[in-house]
Amino acid sequence: MNEPFTHAIPILHTLHEHGYQAYFVGGAVRDVLLEREVGDIDIATDATPDAVESLFDKTIDVGKEHGTVIVIHDGVSYEVTTFRSESAYEDFRRPKEVQFISSLEEDLFRRDLTINAMAMDVNGEIIDRVGGKQDIQQNIIQTVGDPACRFQEDALRMMRAVRFLSQLGFHLSVDTANAMKKDKHLLGKISVERKKIEMEKLLKGRYCEQAIGVLVSTNLYEELPGLQKHGLNEQLRTFPYYLLDGLEEVWGAFIHLLDLDETSAVSLLKEWRLSTKLLKEAIKISEYVDCEWDAEKMFEAGEHVLLSSLKIKQLKHERRIFFDELEVAKHSFDALPIKKLKDLAVSGKDLMAFRQKKSGKWIAEELDSVKKAVLQHRLENRKEAIEEWLNACDQRLEND
Ligand code: ATP
Ligand code: MG
Repeated sequence: MNEPFTHAIPILHTLHEHGYQAYFVGGAVRDVLLEREVGDIDIATDATPDAVESLFDKTIDVGKEHGTVIVIHDGVSYEVTTFRSESAYEDFRRPKEVQFISSLEEDLFRRDLTINAMAMDVNGEIIDRVGGKQDIQQNIIQTVGDPACRFQEDALRMMRAVRFLSQLGFHLSVDTANAMKKDKHLLGKISVERKKIEMEKLLKGRYCEQAIGVLVSTNLYEELPGLQKHGLNEQLRTFPYYLLDGLEEVWGAFIHLLDLDETSAVSLLKEWRLSTKLLKEAIKISEYVDCEWDAEKMFEAGEHVLLSSLKIKQLKHERRIFFDELEVAKHSFDALPIKKLKDLAVSGKDLMAFRQKKSGKWIAEELDSVKKAVLQHRLENRKEAIEEWLNACDQRLEND
């Protein structure tokens, strides 16, 4: 067994020493079998959350009622979750009650997909009761147990299945795909917040194009905010979102490719419950994708929006990123005489003193013409030079 598992072994040992079972479970076990980089490591145990808290010095209660306690070991956080079965489901959303149990097997059976339902013991032995290993070998995504029942319990699992397909390039089993087609409307009952988390991971997946194809072939997309209304055009379906970085770029590309006016773009992103900050960044990026750049545009956009929108433009037309072109754009931005309004050598106050005039709309207008002249290198960004320039402008106006 390798890092990062070895680092977490003392947690398993502590639980064992106190008579409890403890295993690595879920995504980390899947990723080790896939030889992918392992993300967060989750641990499952028959110790109750209270017992887990009492055994470790540093713990955080992140949902003890659902069985989860975070244990911090040597600076790293691990989710330690008590074996549980989820019986009654409420409104196709969340289990109404969680029952803590002592059987690892039952805990594995309640998990969503076979590839996510394996455990690994302290010696690196894989415990696979659901055919997860075989599905990994055959690149298959399917639910643990009857897909129709599992989607009835929690319809988010449909989105999760497509999200993993997007990340791994696997395909859905026939039964799982059929159940999705039949019961896709159940996804309509799931909160947008939960769907957004999966949608963002789906868009960033290496095989997003296939995943969007599945959203369409199963009609799941009709249950996602705004997509039925606006449709999914060819460009939007085939765009390589995975080559982008932040979510602001991903959403920026998404709405740019939908080709919406600003009002519709804002309302779509609001429907997806994006934070105001993310929404504004995404809208701004989307608006600059097709722009013809000059000093003023670069100044308005700012460096991040400039580079993000340029990347999207390259991917839209050429499907790859030209880093040398980004480098050139970055140099051009660095060469701007001012990068934000605060960099201007005069402020509104200076203008008021200089003009001996009260504040008013004229300040913004005058600052704007100073800014333009400085950006176009017609004026040096120095207080005296700016005063002289304004004087000269006044003279010219008087003479005209
Ligand atoms: P990632 O690497 O993206 O975090 P993950 O498999 O760890 O993938 P999580 O959302 O962190 O995914 O969930 C951890 C584990 O919990 C899953 O591997 C799965 O076993 C189980 N799980 C998560 N969501 C559900 C669900 N809706 N229904 C059943 N089991 C679930
Ligand atoms: Mg995880």
